[in-house]
Amino acid sequence: MENQLSVYNTLTRKKELFEPLHPGRVGLYVCGPTVYGDPHLGHARPAITFDILFRYLKRLGYKVRYVRNITDVGHLVNDADEGEDKVAKKAKLEHMEPMEVVQFYLNSYHKAMEMLNVLPPSIEPHASGHIIEQIQLVKDILTKGFAYESRGSVYFDVGKYNRQYNYGVLSGRNIEDMLNTTRELDGQDEKRHTIDFALWKKASPEHIMRWPSPWSDGFPGWHLECTAMSKKYLGETFDIHGGGMDLIFPHHECEIAQSVASSGHEAVRYWMHNNMITVNGQKMGKSLGNFINLEQFFNGTHPLLTQAYSPMAIRFFILQAHYRSTVDFSNEALQASEKGLARLLEAAKNIERLEAKTSESTNNIKQWEQKSRDAMNDDLNTPIVISYLFEASRIINSALGGQTLLTAEDIRDLKQLFDLFLFDLLGITNEQKDGSASYDSFAGAVDLLLNIRLQAKQNKDWATSDKIRNELTALGFEIKDTKDGFEWKLNR
Ligand code: ZN
Repeated sequence: MENQLSVYNTLTRKKELFEPLHPGRVGLYVCGPTVYGDPHLGHARPAITFDILFRYLKRLGYKVRYVRNITDVGHLVNDADEGEDKVAKKAKLEHMEPMEVVQFYLNSYHKAMEMLNVLPPSIEPHASGHIIEQIQLVKDILTKGFAYESRGSVYFDVGKYNRQYNYGVLSGRNIEDMLNTTRELDGQDEKRHTIDFALWKKASPEHIMRWPSPWSDGFPGWHLECTAMSKKYLGETFDIHGGGMDLIFPHHECEIAQSVASSGHEAVRYWMHNNMITVNGQKMGKSLGNFINLEQFFNGTHPLLTQAYSPMAIRFFILQAHYRSTVDFSNEALQASEKGLARLLEAAKNIERLEAKTSESTNNIKQWEQKSRDAMNDDLNTPIVISYLFEASRIINSALGGQTLLTAEDIRDLKQLFDLFLFDLLGITNEQKDGSASYDSFAGAVDLLLNIRLQAKQNKDWATSDKIRNELTALGFEIKDTKDGFEWKLNR
């Protein structure tokens, strides 16, 4: 495919034709999860958005090195460089080693991503595995004079940086306003100014995750890892940096400042950001009771859901909106989306049954393929691509009903349209990896066995009844007899 991909660059605030730094190769860096809790919608959206970009760039013939980091240290509970480390806090709460917490939630994250058919990145570096690189970066910034040491911690000097460069280029925030409105520090604080941010923090005695450094036993500031690891794996300048819009400030703004301060120039050529997810029109939040994790979608156990949704229904729903628009999840909207997806999958299956009944094409199928390509080139406009797939499925149904006549070429084009756009690029898959449909059949089979056992008990056939209970128990099922029959769950 010819490259005519345009992407919206958050830095320049316009759509630009994508031209890679090195011919034929693309370096892509996306901020990955901080692993201290169950994977949720907020993880699914950036992963799916940049999965589409990854798939499309590969389809355009590029060799893509996709780096998505794992934050396992340095992300503090609040953004003002104070408070506990999110991972360490969870570890203390659960009586686990911090790395045990990281491994546990990373495993669930990977499993959820696989269910959503998100391709694994080329490199998934951990912040805790790159302490040396981060310490080097702090040294570089200190040498260039844009940081200062204070009581064992090192802070980035935003005011000084802004006198030479421009702090706020990505977010559009005005530093003069920030300097004027933020509180002047009274000299008791380590920081000279509240907008300065930590590059290295001295660990308090009770802080578990700590490493030796020239300044103190401590840990790196959260923004540092992405600058250090993108430089290590993609070079001092690279093509695309992605993430959620919530990361623009302060995280990505600080990344830019760190790169420019240490190397004298920006590292990233195109900044891309996906918009946020709301649930029933509200921001997602634990305190609002609308925080639905992915597992709860897949098994339908959240009170806001009336049923389970397959991972493909979630993926499809996210792709029905452009990545720069918000997506509002609701039970009703998901139900509609699930039906739509089922229609498309049914149509894709029915292509096999189509027969060529004319030699003269009067359809626009070839045109839809070009238009879908144009839509992908237009900043990954997946909702437009989906609308052409719906048009195509209408033609398929109408041809099956005998109202439309297709040529052999039409049928080939239809197949190609679905194969390329629905399956390869949108990453929708027909097979249920571990989704609700297979869960439904699985649960149905367990119910069936337990009903047979119930019948056996009524017939006083204890041998059969015990055999079913014992063998299901051995397989990890917990079975409870109730007055109406039974309850079961699978302990995993
Ligand atoms: Zn990052």
